Amino acid sequence: MSPSSKTVSRLPQATYQRVLAGQVAVVTGASSGIGKAVALGLAAAGASVVVNYASGSTAAEEVVDKIESSGGRAIAVLADVAKETEVQDLFRVAIKTFGTVHILVNNAGLQRDAALVDMTLDQWNTVLSVNLTGQFLCAREAAREFMRREVDRRISVAAGKIICISSVHEMIPWAGHANYAASKGGVVMLMKTMAQELAPLRIRVNSIAPGAIRTPINVGAWDTPQAYQNLLKLIPYKRIGEPEDIAQVAVWLASDASDYVNGTTLFVDGGMMLYPGFVDNG
Ligand code: NAD
Repeated sequence: MSPSSKTVSRLPQATYQRVLAGQVAVVTGASSGIGKAVALGLAAAGASVVVNYASGSTAAEEVVDKIESSGGRAIAVLADVAKETEVQDLFRVAIKTFGTVHILVNNAGLQRDAALVDMTLDQWNTVLSVNLTGQFLCAREAAREFMRREVDRRISVAAGKIICISSVHEMIPWAGHANYAASKGGVVMLMKTMAQELAPLRIRVNSIAPGAIRTPINVGAWDTPQAYQNLLKLIPYKRIGEPEDIAQVAVWLASDASDYVNGTTLFVDGGMMLYPGFVDNG
């Protein structure tokens, strides 16, 4: 049977070693999709997690409940990552609750798609302000806290870790999504520049660039068999990614096991970056 949106099997339950015990993580946009899976993964690896959300507390509280019912620690904090004072408050609450922050996962993101000639300034600004400015604002607050605390080797050999959730569209142009592609292209240079600037302080900054992951942001790309078959043409590995695929990489990037990894984008995309259009000689 050919794989379809219905027949594709979910990943086996991930098992996590407690490699993040004693650490505190802030995950933005953590009430759904990739952010939710990352929050649960970091918590399963032993981190206390600040579950940031943008509106409506129910889904975020469910993530917190899930973490707490597994014996972990978490709080849900409302903040718009595009607003400076709300981001500052987010970190203030995180530090007041858990003492410090060791890990930031810059995950919050959105799309406002339109053809270039139809794109409004509001659509452009909304995407840039959440996907790029939001990552800057959160990274700045995280770095300030990492510098204040410095390294505590009993917890981690790094003072802090920042993980930017980017996209294959940091490299692949995307017609009809100029605002989104520009925002993720901006994340590359933000990430690399932060990595270069902060490395002497033992702060590591890296990106995860997902390919197509099964989340609410891209339902139309996988929720019918026809859409799913079309999507698979772009994925040499012939399955959609699951949020847990990203969570497992985030746990590794946040842990000391990746201590010498800095300023890098890790593509987690089933080979989407391999130019699958050339598989039949172009
Ligand atoms: P999603 O829509 O489930 O998650 C995005 C989250 O960001 C939501 O919880 C949303 O509420 C939150 N958010 C939006 N604006 C916010 C704001 N101003 N402040 C705080 N939170 C805000 O979709 P997802 O696929 O899980 O997306 C997560 C990240 O992964 C995004 O950065 C997205 O660009 C990236 N990504 C996703 C895919 C994919 O295929 N799903 C591929 C590449 C990159």
